[in-house]
Amino acid sequence: YSPIHVIGGGLAGSEAAWQIANAGVPVILHEMRGVRGTEAHKTDDLAELVCSNSFRSDDATSNAVGVIHAEMRMAGSLIMACADKHQVPAGGALAVDRDGFSAAVTHAIANHPLITVVREEIQGLPSREWDQAIIATGPLTAPGLASAIQAETGADALAFFDAIAPIVYRDSINMDICWYQSRYDKVGPGGTGKDYINCPMDEAQYNAFIDALIAGDAVGFKEWEGTPYFDGCLPIEVMAERGRETLRHGPMKPMGLTNAHNPTVKAYAVVQLRQDNALGTLYNMVGFQTKLKYGAQAEIFRLIPGLENAEFARLGGLHRNTYINSPTLLDRSLVLKSRPGLRFAGQITGCEGYVESASIGLLAGRFAAAERKGEAPLLPPDTTALGSLLNHITGGHIVSDEEPGKRSFQPMNINFGLFPELEPGSIVKPEGVKRFRGKDKTIMKRQLIAKRALADCAGWLGVPAPVFAESA
Ligand code: FAD
Repeated sequence: YSPIHVIGGGLAGSEAAWQIANAGVPVILHEMRGVRGTEAHKTDDLAELVCSNSFRSDDATSNAVGVIHAEMRMAGSLIMACADKHQVPAGGALAVDRDGFSAAVTHAIANHPLITVVREEIQGLPSREWDQAIIATGPLTAPGLASAIQAETGADALAFFDAIAPIVYRDSINMDICWYQSRYDKVGPGGTGKDYINCPMDEAQYNAFIDALIAGDAVGFKEWEGTPYFDGCLPIEVMAERGRETLRHGPMKPMGLTNAHNPTVKAYAVVQLRQDNALGTLYNMVGFQTKLKYGAQAEIFRLIPGLENAEFARLGGLHRNTYINSPTLLDRSLVLKSRPGLRFAGQITGCEGYVESASIGLLAGRFAAAERKGEAPLLPPDTTALGSLLNHITGGHIVSDEEPGKRSFQPMNINFGLFPELEPGSIVKPEGVKRFRGKDKTIMKRQLIAKRALADCAGWLGVPAPVFAESA
C-alpha cells in the first residue's frame, strides 16, 4: 500500500498512526515539535500531556470516560497501553507518569516498522499527491496550517477560542419549577415553540444570583491566550460586573415568556436552557459562557430555581482552542466533505481532552486504513462510547432555531448524555430493595448504558467483552 500521512504527533495523531500501521498500511507521521514548538508543549516527545497527568475515571461500569477507556483497550489502543504501563496511584482515576507515558508512545511509534516520523511543520493543506491524510494538529495548530484550513472551510468554520456554556442533564432539571417555551412561542425550522427550558427568578433571587456571580472565583487567561472577549461572548460574570441590570437585559431577559406554573406572576429574570443534542438528553445554559472555577460554577448555578439538583455533563469555559465546525464539514467517517481522502482527528474535530482526542484518532486511523485497503470504514455502533462521541462530532448536534446560522457546536467530553436512551422499561427496582430513589435510578441507568456499550463494542470489534465486578 502507499502511505497514509498523519499530521500532528499528539494524542490523536500517535493513536491514528498506530492503528493504521497495525492494519498493515504504512504511515508517515509529520510532527513539528523538534523544529517548532507550541505555547503549551514543553518537550519533543509524541503524545505529550500539556497539563494534568490524569486520564480521569477508569471505572468502566458506571463512568462514561471509564467506558471509553475500556473500548479503546479492546481496539488495541497504543495510548491506553502506554497509560496502563505507566500508571501512578490515583484512586479510581487513571493517572500516568507523564514522561514515562510520552517516552513509551514515542518509542513504540519510532520502532514500528511501518511508521516513519518526520519532524517538520506542515504549513498548508496536504498536497493532493497525498491522496490520504489525517490532520490531527490539536488545539494549538500552527498558524500556517490553521489559515489554510480556514481558507478551505470558510472563515466561520474554524474557531480559535471555545466559549462554552455549562451543559445540564435534562433529567436533573426540576420541571415542577421550570417550563418548556420558546420566547414569544416562536416556531423556528424543526421547532415546536417549546424548544427551551425556562427557569424563573424573582427580584430577590436575581439579586442574590448576581452577588454570587460577582463574588465567584474565576480563572485568569494565560498570557499567550490573550483576552478573547468577542462578539457577544463575554463571560457571564463579566457581564454581571458591568451593571446589576446587564444580565436582565441580556441572556436573562424575561420578555416573551409566561411561567406555565404561575401564569399571572411575571418573572423578574429567566435563565433559558436550549436542547444541545439530537437525543434531547442534554441542555445548555444559553449565554452562560464563563471563566468561573468549576467548583464555583456548580455552586452558583444551583442557586437558579429549577437547577437546585442540576447535574452538569460539562461546566463552562473559555479557552484558546482550534476546532472546526465538524457537524457541517465532516462526513460520518471524519472525511472533509470538500476534500475526499482528507480526514480530521483529535481535539480539532470538537471533542475535548486527552482520552477523547486519542479515541477519535483511533477511529480516524481505522477508517483511513480500511479505505486504503479498499474496504468500507466500519463505524462503531451508536450505543458505544466511541459511536456516541463520533455522533456528537459528525452530526447529532442541534442547531439553534432562534439564531439561524449561528454556530452552536461546542467541544465536548464523553458523557452519558451523548449515548442513546435505554429501551423503555429497562430500569427496574431490584428485588428486595425498599427505597429506589432518583439517584439509584441514575446509577442503574449508567450501569446499563455502560454494559450495553461494552457488549456492542466487543461485537463491533469481534473480541470478547471485558468482565467487571458490578460497582456498588
Ligand atoms: P495535541 O496533543 O495538541 O497534538 C497536536 C500535535 O500537532 C502537537 O504535537 C503539535 O506540535 C502538532 N502540530 C500542530 N501544528 C502542526 C503543524 N502545522 N505541522 C506539524 N505538526 C503540528 N486535556 C485534558 O484531558 N486534561 C487537561 O488537563 C488539559 N489541559 C490542557 C491545557 C492546555 C493549555 C491546552 C491547550 C489543552 C489542554 N487539554 C487538556 C486538552 C488536551 O491537550 C487535548 O485534548 C489533547 O492534547 C488533544 O490531542 P490532539 O492530538 O488533538 O492535539
